[in-house]
Amino acid sequence: MPSLNHIHTYIRKSGNERKPYESIFKCADPYCTHIADAKSIKDKASICSKCKTAEIVMNVTQLKLARPRCEECSNKPENKQKQQLKKTLEALDIFKEEEPKEEQIAKSE
Ligand SMILES: [Zn+2]
Ligand SMILES: [Zn+2]
Repeated sequence: MPSLNHIHTYIRKSGNERKPYESIFKCADPYCTHIADAKSIKDKASICSKCKTAEIVMNVTQLKLARPRCEECSNKPENKQKQQLKKTLEALDIFKEEEPKEEQIAKSE
């Protein structure tokens, strides 16, 4: 089966994040056999391995990931940073639905 003429959905085949330029990537498309080393796909377009729709550029940050993904996908709830931020916001009562008490309004004026 040949490499297809499309924007590949690169996922890491071998290597690790400490040596991003020595990793080998392959296309996640089941009909595509494309395999490439990280150096040759650096700054090339790829498709997000999560949503499979967004186009991304294989910069060094993406080359460190086993499954490169778009900004939107890396910001989804499973992202630890986001969860941490949500916790912080909850602690600050930003999501509280209760109406403020009258005496609190008076104080703030
Ligand atoms: Zn492909
Ligand atoms: Zn995505």
